[in-house]
Amino acid sequence: MKFTRSREAFGRAKRVIPGGVNSPVRAFRAVGGRPLFVSAGRGSRIDDLDGNRLIDYVMSWGPLILGHAAKPVLAAVRRTMSKGTTFGAPTVAEIELAERIRGAFPSMELVRLVSSGTEACMSALRAARGFTKRDAIAKFDGCYHGHADSLLVKAGSGLATFGEPDSGGVPRDVAKHTIVLPYNDADAVERALKSKKIAALIVEPVAGNMGVVLPRDGFLRRLRTVCTRTGTVLIFDEVMTGFRPCYGGVQTIEGIKPDLTTLGKIVGGGMPLAAYGGRREIMEGVSPLGPVYQAGTLSGNPLAVAAGLAQVDYLRDHPEVYARLEVLGSRLEEGLCDVAKRRRRELCVNRFGSMLTLFFQAGPVTDWKSASGGDAKAFAAFFQKMLKRGVYLPPSPYEAWFLSAAHTDRDLEATLRAAHAAL
Ligand code: PMP
Repeated sequence: MKFTRSREAFGRAKRVIPGGVNSPVRAFRAVGGRPLFVSAGRGSRIDDLDGNRLIDYVMSWGPLILGHAAKPVLAAVRRTMSKGTTFGAPTVAEIELAERIRGAFPSMELVRLVSSGTEACMSALRAARGFTKRDAIAKFDGCYHGHADSLLVKAGSGLATFGEPDSGGVPRDVAKHTIVLPYNDADAVERALKSKKIAALIVEPVAGNMGVVLPRDGFLRRLRTVCTRTGTVLIFDEVMTGFRPCYGGVQTIEGIKPDLTTLGKIVGGGMPLAAYGGRREIMEGVSPLGPVYQAGTLSGNPLAVAAGLAQVDYLRDHPEVYARLEVLGSRLEEGLCDVAKRRRRELCVNRFGSMLTLFFQAGPVTDWKSASGGDAKAFAAFFQKMLKRGVYLPPSPYEAWFLSAAHTDRDLEATLRAAHAAL
């Protein structure tokens, strides 16, 4: 497999775009080599500039649950596009999408559409701060909620102490309002929330940004209880998990009602669309009803709304998609475990339905501390070998692989054969 044209494109890109990419993980820094430039996608496959066709497990980092160029999504966008692309004024389709979201996530009594997961999480936190009139927020180590200043924060010297900036350009004065806690440690959460008045606790109810990490039994319920007791707004960031395991999210499966929820990825059908919403009394604080300001020129953009509606409605009308995704996910998990055993490699697979991570370590992986203990070099080598064999994995050890309804048994067989050879 040759990547000559991608290499040329990357050189050209670097002259005008920082690092040649519009989002850092795309630059392949964690795996070495150069990114490939995609020319098209169809179903489970992408084509690159050099004419290579690869089985895709990035799937645009989660939105494409029906696969690339899904017919119902493309048709809806085409239909809508012929009538104009954006008005900056209300349209009926926005109501329909908000109604669908509330139907699938009853905890989201009022819903605001925005354009990215970052915006959704940033806005949800502002709404929580406005509602509680508290400044401090809490997040978990290893969870990602977009790149708002308050969220690019790492733990300070001790638990439940002030956070420190985890990115250049984030003021200390902002970071100090964020407390960073260990995932899956409900006792630490309880101590932190009792010792300090916290506006909001934000969590990926199943984490996907330190690789896939599942909540321990009872962890999410404890969060609910502690937040209720301390008047802390509980935010489930379901940007990745929303509409992923079922027509709903982790909250549907666990039967837990967060105060606010953020959605993105699948709900936008592969277009820039995200949403936040939740308890009426909190969301009524958002402008124009209340004092919490939040706005967007392209919020509720007609094309994005059309794509989101088409994808979400397809999922509502085809529940068999989720059964199929579960079958694919479990086959891939079992297959990878089997390959690891045959190759005598100590690997750990964490899976939540159709999202999965292969950790290069024995495991168990339950939090950022354990997730970050893997063999990054071995992952990089594995990634490159898989790429040469036509399998495009997320170019970082701390990401979820995404399956779509378009992946086939043959894709999985080819992937497992490649994995056997690569290991
Ligand atoms: N929250 C979660 C759980 C995410 O996975 C992501 C993106 N990977 C975000 C928020 C941020 O979304 P976006 O990249 O659309 O800003």
